[in-house]
Amino acid sequence: MHITEHLERAHNKGSLFSFEIVPPSRGKSGQEILDVVEMLQPLNPAWIDVTSHSSSAHYRERNDGGLERKIFRKRPGTLGLCGIIQNRYRIDTVAHVLCLGFSKEETEDALIELNFLGIHNVLALRGDTPNFQKDYAKEKTLNLYAHNLVEQIAGLKTGKFLEDLDSTQPLNYCIGVAGYPEKHYEAANLKLDIQNLKRKIDAGAQYITTQMFFDNQHYFSYVAQCRDAGITVPIIPGIKVIRSVKQLQSLPKAFHIDLPDPLVDEITANPGHAAEIGQRWAHKQAEELMNRNVPSVHFYVLNDAPIIYDIVKKLQS
Ligand code: FAD
Repeated sequence: MHITEHLERAHNKGSLFSFEIVPPSRGKSGQEILDVVEMLQPLNPAWIDVTSHSSSAHYRERNDGGLERKIFRKRPGTLGLCGIIQNRYRIDTVAHVLCLGFSKEETEDALIELNFLGIHNVLALRGDTPNFQKDYAKEKTLNLYAHNLVEQIAGLKTGKFLEDLDSTQPLNYCIGVAGYPEKHYEAANLKLDIQNLKRKIDAGAQYITTQMFFDNQHYFSYVAQCRDAGITVPIIPGIKVIRSVKQLQSLPKAFHIDLPDPLVDEITANPGHAAEIGQRWAHKQAEELMNRNVPSVHFYVLNDAPIIYDIVKKLQS
């Protein structure tokens, strides 16, 4: 079922929950992540997102003191995991699809694979600039921004493939995109960022999932500004549970977000109880969002499945 159908059907029935998981590192067992899915399955998630990762450069010191450079995808497996979650666990799955690191031709192939696997939901993302220069064959074409990718996927919904083909079968994807309540780090200001978000909606995106935030006021204000800018699609809040003192620095650095004073102060004063404090904070955030009838609460799971299970179980009781 499309994500938009989940959202429509759940209208007046209380909030839905959805989860975002990350494929295991190259060489690790896929069962690790399937164990996470099995742990979360009893919570009846409306859907599960699976992230996608392009190639990056990895460096290793050689015995002679030189540096060895290898280019590879650290976390492959998005398509396969989506197929298993959709077909073995019967949970609707959202495959993340990236511009950077993939040609339009590779993207079209991936979308055909996903369609054959019964997956009809994608989150269209630009991705972050790779730490190496990728060479593409001259005949390949590229999507530079997420709105270009949305346009490509929306074209497939009308049977428009890159090649001029006769009698094509349309690929009917529900398309989501990312939004940043505290602004995307490259945008000059939030107003411009929201104008660029609108390009994605105008190109055919049907809902927005937000970057994590720890202060709900950021989300409420963002939704209001999006509505003022003429964006009418559902905006799904993304929540992450903070679990350690280290994350007081690593999360703002990685995700360009701000952490509220009371949360930082409490964790700094009680570092040994960071996980408990973070859990309580995320529960309170989710509860307030649900009381304000958000379309769904989306949890970034990473390594936090047991904590998220407890939070959602409590919210559902
Ligand atoms: P865009 O919407 O293309 O925006 C990128 C920047 O360009 C913004 O500053 C925007 O304002 C600006 N911009 C947009 N259009 C134009 C234009 N025409 N001219 C000038 N400027 C423009 N990354 C991964 O690698 N894998 C994942 O699976 C993944 N999942 C994510 C899930 C969510 C919910 C979120 C919020 C982020 C995710 N990311 C993921 C991170 C994301 O790829 C990065 O944040 C990336 O830097 C931006 O992606 P975007 O799709 O928002 O880009």
